Amino acid sequence: MRTISLHDSRSGRVLPLEPRDPGRVGIYACGPTVYSRVHVGNARPFVVFSLLKRFLEHEGLEATLVANITDINDKIYDAARAAGVSSAALAAEMTAHYKADTERLGLGRPDHEPLASEYVEAIVALIADLVERGHAYAAGGDVYFRVRSLPEYGELSHRAIDQMDQGEGVEGAERKEDPLDFALWKGEKEGEDTAWPSPWGAGRPGWHIECSAMAEQLLGVELDIHGGGADLLFPHHENEAAQTLAARGRPLARLWVHNGMLQLGDDKMAKSVGNIRGLGEVLDEVGRDALLLYFAAGHYRQPIAYTRERLDAAAASVERIREAGRRVTAGESPADLAPLRDAFFDALADDFNTARALASLFDWIREANRREGPVGGSHLREMLEVLALDNLLEAEAGPPPELVELAERRAAARAERDFAEADRIRDELRAAGWEVRDGAEGPELVPAG
Ligand SMILES: [Zn+2]
Repeated sequence: MRTISLHDSRSGRVLPLEPRDPGRVGIYACGPTVYSRVHVGNARPFVVFSLLKRFLEHEGLEATLVANITDINDKIYDAARAAGVSSAALAAEMTAHYKADTERLGLGRPDHEPLASEYVEAIVALIADLVERGHAYAAGGDVYFRVRSLPEYGELSHRAIDQMDQGEGVEGAERKEDPLDFALWKGEKEGEDTAWPSPWGAGRPGWHIECSAMAEQLLGVELDIHGGGADLLFPHHENEAAQTLAARGRPLARLWVHNGMLQLGDDKMAKSVGNIRGLGEVLDEVGRDALLLYFAAGHYRQPIAYTRERLDAAAASVERIREAGRRVTAGESPADLAPLRDAFFDALADDFNTARALASLFDWIREANRREGPVGGSHLREMLEVLALDNLLEAEAGPPPELVELAERRAAARAERDFAEADRIRDELRAAGWEVRDGAEGPELVPAG
């Protein structure tokens, strides 16, 4: 079996993956806060950790992926108030959008997608343990983590103490013993429409403690891989790590793995910067195959530029793979191509280098194309399965059912003389790689040429 290694943010080194329970790997990847539609940058951790799981399974490991949904958060209260709806209704609506949008990536669902609102009891119990151990204190209905009580604080994000702004602003400032401290529990405030009971009064958990509790409940402490975007390293992950270490005397995670951000111009793509592209919108435009290849073309740790050129390059890669798929046969690949297949998986084992793995995949295609006569495609299928792109080998099988349904909706729109809608659907189909032909037997979908 290959040695699999991943970059660990705590040590700053690439370390071998040594599962806590031999043969089994637990991954906890921080998911979205559901206060608006997810953007394409939010899809990156979803893609990275879903594909990492597929790779680990290819290597014979049993992998469990937990991706939480933060449905209790200040941002949700603020957005709900602005929209004039209840925070629970907004969170439920955006959770449904998040699931529908990420479903379109065709990567399946994580094994668990816990909602913070379903784990309040476990969260309260964890806070109570921290209070009992002297790592947290109640103050005016809130509970705060006493940062200076934990000597290891800061070891994950490697920050100097004067760069440790918890981002909580003036909120609770007069109740904190120390400005470094952060909220574990927030007492109910005027105008908030949801609250849960606790030993410190009605209120709700802080964001960081939600993840510590859900991760422990579903995967146990010292879980194998804790993942998320690099923007979560501080304060979110530093605080998660601190809470669990302080409460349990054992680390939350063995490896901390962070993906780079999407860059639009000089800025990271973020709601706070105001330069976001919705995931659904991008999927309409480029399709899931090209989007997955766009992500895979960069190393997960590096930022990726969100540019037309890179999306076009990904679309061209989709075509090259489809083309190769049309040439290979269903059988075994020649043994002398195996080193290129092995290089693909070795690259993934080496800090999940999808960019280098893709280069090996295209080397394999180039070699196969040089051969006289058709070549068995088993290697190509094996590689594409881990990238969740083996559907490209099935391209001749016809359009997916949701596109057939779209084509039918277009026909109905035309029948009602709603040509604007018909044209819009035609464009959507074209973006997904299909052309509508209106034949004698009704509309027919053919691959866009
Ligand atoms: Zn988290």
